[in-house]
Amino acid sequence: MTVELMFARKLANQFWGVDGKITSLPGERDLNFKISGERTSVLKLYGDSPDNRVLLALQDRALLALSEKIPGIAPTPTPSSTGKTLVESEGRLLRVLSWIEGAMWAEADHVDRELIEMLGKTIARVDSVLATVKLSDEEKTTLNRPFIWNMLQVESIATWATKIPDDDLRILVLNLVEEQSRFSQRKLDSLPQQLIHNDANDWNIVVANKGLGLIDFGDIILAPKVVGLAVAGAYIAMKSPDPSKDIAHLVRGYHSISALSPLEVEILYDLVKLRVASSIANAALQLSNNPDNEYLAISQGDAPRTLKLLCESDSRLAHFRFRNSIGLDANPDSKAIRQYLLTQARHQSVVSPDIKSAPKVWIDWSVEAGQIPRTSAEIERVMRESGAAIGIGRYCENRAVYASDAFDASAANARTFHLGVDLWQEVGSPVFAPLGGELELFNDNATYLDYGPVVIVRHVTDNGNNFWSLYGHLSKKSLAEWTIGKKVKAGEIIGWMGDESENVGWPPHVHFQLLTDLCGMGIDVYGVAPRDEVSLWRSISPNPNLILGIAEGTDAHSRLTRDVVAAERSVVISRNLSLNFKKPLHIVRGSGAYLYDEEDRPYLDLVNNVAHVGHCHPRVVAAGERQMRTLNTNTRYLHQGITEYARSIISTLPQPLSVMFFVNSGSEANDLAIRLAHAYTGRTGAIALRHGYHGHTASVVEISPYKFLGKGGLGVPANTRVAELPDIYRGVFRGKDGVYSYLRQLDNVIEELGTNVGAFFAESIVSTAGQIVLPDEYLPRAFDAIRKAGGVCVSDEVQIGLGRVGETFWGFELHGVIPDIVTMGKPLGNGHPLAAVATTPEIASAFNNGMEYFNTFGGNPVSAAIGQAVFDVVEDEGLQHNATVVGNYLQDSIRALGRDYSIIGNVRGSGLFIGIEMMRDENTPATEEVSALMEYALTRGVMLSCDGPDNNVLKIKPPLIITKNDVDLFLNVLSEWLVKR
Ligand code: PMP
Repeated sequence: MTVELMFARKLANQFWGVDGKITSLPGERDLNFKISGERTSVLKLYGDSPDNRVLLALQDRALLALSEKIPGIAPTPTPSSTGKTLVESEGRLLRVLSWIEGAMWAEADHVDRELIEMLGKTIARVDSVLATVKLSDEEKTTLNRPFIWNMLQVESIATWATKIPDDDLRILVLNLVEEQSRFSQRKLDSLPQQLIHNDANDWNIVVANKGLGLIDFGDIILAPKVVGLAVAGAYIAMKSPDPSKDIAHLVRGYHSISALSPLEVEILYDLVKLRVASSIANAALQLSNNPDNEYLAISQGDAPRTLKLLCESDSRLAHFRFRNSIGLDANPDSKAIRQYLLTQARHQSVVSPDIKSAPKVWIDWSVEAGQIPRTSAEIERVMRESGAAIGIGRYCENRAVYASDAFDASAANARTFHLGVDLWQEVGSPVFAPLGGELELFNDNATYLDYGPVVIVRHVTDNGNNFWSLYGHLSKKSLAEWTIGKKVKAGEIIGWMGDESENVGWPPHVHFQLLTDLCGMGIDVYGVAPRDEVSLWRSISPNPNLILGIAEGTDAHSRLTRDVVAAERSVVISRNLSLNFKKPLHIVRGSGAYLYDEEDRPYLDLVNNVAHVGHCHPRVVAAGERQMRTLNTNTRYLHQGITEYARSIISTLPQPLSVMFFVNSGSEANDLAIRLAHAYTGRTGAIALRHGYHGHTASVVEISPYKFLGKGGLGVPANTRVAELPDIYRGVFRGKDGVYSYLRQLDNVIEELGTNVGAFFAESIVSTAGQIVLPDEYLPRAFDAIRKAGGVCVSDEVQIGLGRVGETFWGFELHGVIPDIVTMGKPLGNGHPLAAVATTPEIASAFNNGMEYFNTFGGNPVSAAIGQAVFDVVEDEGLQHNATVVGNYLQDSIRALGRDYSIIGNVRGSGLFIGIEMMRDENTPATEEVSALMEYALTRGVMLSCDGPDNNVLKIKPPLIITKNDVDLFLNVLSEWLVKR
């Protein structure tokens, strides 16, 4: 052991009582040691200086705040025997920090998109805590001291850059720094500043089992948060063949935790370059002072190459990628250009005869099409047979035809999405400029399957935005007369369609494309987009039909891959619209009781009580289609559909429920129920069952204990009271007689509300509570008590109605009660947004108080036709009976399994609304096991869901057309899992 190590070990032991095997760790300025003992720690030694005292105390405060808010994301300072985290000893300052276990990022086997995104999230989480650290004036001054890793101090970077020995590199760095100080710095100065980590390099990121951690807070500064992101971006760039694409993942991750502004993403790429440049400048300075500091050499190897790559890559494309990754329109000018084109009169036709009126045929080259007319002869035949003058090939069509060396069809980033519109005609057909402009570029891109002879024309909007039109696959002669900068008039001939020999292998056509930017690619600008960057290219190269004006449309909207859809959804759809399963499914079609993913893998759907009569039931689809073709309008006119459908529903209800309202969702139905109750009783108080859920709008969240007492909930609202959930299996009162205790507790809340008892909301089998079947006497007595107190009783049948419970058509009928109001939803439209409220004439007339009730969509002719078809199918296919037969079979079979496997705690429900409560032992819910079972079943093609306060109840509520064979599939999978686990 060296003297230095022995000395360090002694200090750690003396002040912290820490001991163990000691090794030294690399460090730029400080001495760092790892001590592996009972608990692994890091000892850090610093020179004693006023700045260090201020900075280390601040670091410790920041680290303590991080440890408290996000344990494990950063090291925790360990108090010494004196209680302080910072110790002075013989002109040194010492600290001991906890060690974060894991591999360093630099050593990670595999850095992929997800890991980079996770890094973005980690930095954002750290920044969010650092932003809350209060700073004194002295600390601010110290943080702003001259510091080589402070990117805000561009002038110093310029000074150090003069030490770069390599001429080209020095000039590159100096130019960059100058550009930064002239353009970006002002923008940077306008952003708010906060404490940032400022050093997310590969040796400061720990890849741990649970997630990522950041270490080494020695470079903290006060700066806009985007500066810290740029530091991480610079190190991502060092390892990336396509830096801005990888940094975009970092940006997406960061933004998902801490929103970035358009200005922040605008300056990010420049800051990444600046960080790499400053690394090079600093290294030159440090190495000239201190030629053998190993640490400095660590990160320098890749920097010069990376800086060159970053500078050669188009900074606008990088900016577009960053914007796209946070859900913004990639090119900020694209909107104005699209608007310009949309507000102009239609343009000249690109081909003759006029494309708007000529007979056309759409030629499908999509991967889904299978056999495609690929040769000139085949295209000619299609055109001839259809009598079309022009063949149309669509925009954003996913094509397998790009199979030359330039396209690796198997890669995630394979270029397969067509960005132009193809216009097929005979060889030699003329191509016209649809609007005036100036010739920007022309060339013969003669590589097989490239553009062949191609022309790009620049146009300008009234507001001065440039945009471009591109014409590919022309004949060679088309290029003869062009010179760059030549004016092009609208209607002028651009060229002629080439044949296969000159247009590099395509049937004769023009590839017509609209571009809002050339992305530094010039004449090689993409005509086909990478399939993992389709939304990016949709913005850069919008649908050229904005110019062509083909009324039938040209956008193929080809299917994106699962990963792309997942990434897109994570930014453009709010994240609290949650997804099921660890690896969310990409479901592309449904049929009967099965859903199918993008690889056409079937999943037995035991979750979707919405697809009541089976996914995409042909009769329902046909009814909707037929009515959509005939009429769809609001309900202000007489229409037979709505009254007939109302009669159908009423015929299933007990008297006096005979007035219907049609609405669009279960939430809306319950909202209306609240209003009806209020109109009738004049009271605002409501009582709901614990764990009950009645919808997502403001008013119904207030009667949903599942929400207001759950995560993010605001507690019990003033006018609401919670009745205990009558769960006699695991609730507060258990056993058969428990029901009386629940009723007493209900009496208490009724008493609390006193003269304000307005409405009582309950499902008859409480779904979110874990499919709790209310005990026999509960509802009749509860309804009596509520009515005695002057309130009305609402049965929420959104989940369980329309024949699902088998024995009866509605759930409340299982209990022999007649509600005052019934709300219905999910199954009514088999997926079409249709919901309803049924009530008594008395309540309906109290509601008819002069204030008009108008609902734009509720009960429109299409909804009524669909609702009627679902209703008819339930009757015609005998689905209520099927619910009883198959449901009983399922319950009996599970109960039988339960005799061998004690984890099956309780099986309950009615018809095809079943709960299987899983228990580790009598008192411990099997939450993790249920989650593992769901993931396992998914791999075996069975889709399950769970609920209940402990998420330990499997909810079985499949389409009613499910068969015993389907149930057997589930039973096999469940048995497999029970045996295996
Ligand atoms: N009531 C109950 C019992 C529900 O389960 C739901 C939806 N899960 C709703 C109301 C709200 O329905 P929607 O999502 O259609 O607004």
